[in-house]
Amino acid sequence: MRAEGRANGRLDWLLRMPPEIERAYERDFGEGRVRHLRHAIIVGLIVYNIYNLTSLYLMADIQPFTVAMRLFVLVPGSLTIFWLVPRLPPVFRELILLQGMFVASLLPLYLLYISQSPYASYTLGELPLVLLFGNMLLVLRFRLALIFTFVTCLAALFVIHTKPGLDPNLIFPLTVQAITGLFFTLYGNWHFERQRCLSYVAQYDAQNRADRAERIGDELRDLTRTDALTGIANRRHLEEVLADWPTEHDAMLLLMVDVDHFKAYNDRRGHVAGDEALRRIALTLQAFADRHDGFCARYGGEEFTLVFSADARTGGAFLADRLVRSVRDLGLPHPARPDGVAVVTVSAGYAGAGEAEDVTPLELVSRADEALYQAKSAGRNRSKAG
Ligand code: GH3
Ligand code: MG
Ligand code: MG
Repeated sequence: MRAEGRANGRLDWLLRMPPEIERAYERDFGEGRVRHLRHAIIVGLIVYNIYNLTSLYLMADIQPFTVAMRLFVLVPGSLTIFWLVPRLPPVFRELILLQGMFVASLLPLYLLYISQSPYASYTLGELPLVLLFGNMLLVLRFRLALIFTFVTCLAALFVIHTKPGLDPNLIFPLTVQAITGLFFTLYGNWHFERQRCLSYVAQYDAQNRADRAERIGDELRDLTRTDALTGIANRRHLEEVLADWPTEHDAMLLLMVDVDHFKAYNDRRGHVAGDEALRRIALTLQAFADRHDGFCARYGGEEFTLVFSADARTGGAFLADRLVRSVRDLGLPHPARPDGVAVVTVSAGYAGAGEAEDVTPLELVSRADEALYQAKSAGRNRSKAG
């Protein structure tokens, strides 16, 4: 009920949905509408032609003309609409139905008007059928149903009140018939159309809310896995990747990377510059990981972890050396190193496991960590195997 209440506010009094919802409706239900219309047109055409047999008796004086009208106007016209309905854009598709309905309702009124037959007024019995067909079987869009119904009824009232020779006792009952037929079928159309639009707008809104919730969920999940300072993956994300890596890859090469003499850098240049340096290093490592189909995360502080699907024996030294070099080649000036090197560098320790080896990611982390310690002891700005 609440969803329908909200949807209600989004329809105007002509039961029009907002344009973007109208387009979505057409995407979802346009084909079904076309199928329904083509079906209804064929059924309508058959019933209409059978009903028109009544004119053989009721308007005998203009019989050849009525037959000609039916065969050369109504039947080809209906078949043309049948052919056009799937081929026209939705707005024109609905408009052509309105035109077809005008012909179907105004032609018999015209025939009745010109017929001299004393029974001709009985063909007005056809009017409710035509209204019923347009408003409740085709279900013209409500705004078009309004036009169709009022024009048809005005024409009917005109004929009833001006036709020469019509029994005056029929004028009042026929007027009432026309007006009640108008009201009844238009009400039916309004009811169908309102239900159709309300339920679709409610469904559209619900789908939108679900999509938005999913997007927010994805964004939040990304945030919880992203390191706030550097923007690369954080420790939590690393742990997820490490847990899944052995099942998703044949080999695992893990590198622990630590920035050299970073405390001195901070002490000399301040923490803001230190943060900026960490960001630059993180992006360099991330790009390196991307180039080699690997994964890169900030482990914590000025330490990073990289994982590759590579054999440690054949590819470990190569990758680790290239990585150390890529940071050195960044050329970030380090003004306070005790060893005299002028740029920021990193040290790396690596360890790996092949398919057959039963080693946990955690063991690799501690082996790579030990190797990192050796790289530091050996003079930094280098890598060691664990
Ligand atoms: P080593 O070559 O042995 O690794 O020396 P180090 O100075 O890099 O090692 P240490 O562990 O003594 O110091 C690490 C420094 O990293 C201390 C801390 O100020 C700095 N650091 C850690 N996290 C951050 C951070 O988020 N921002 C900044 N600016 N500095 C950080
Ligand atoms: Mg450290
Ligand atoms: Mg360090």
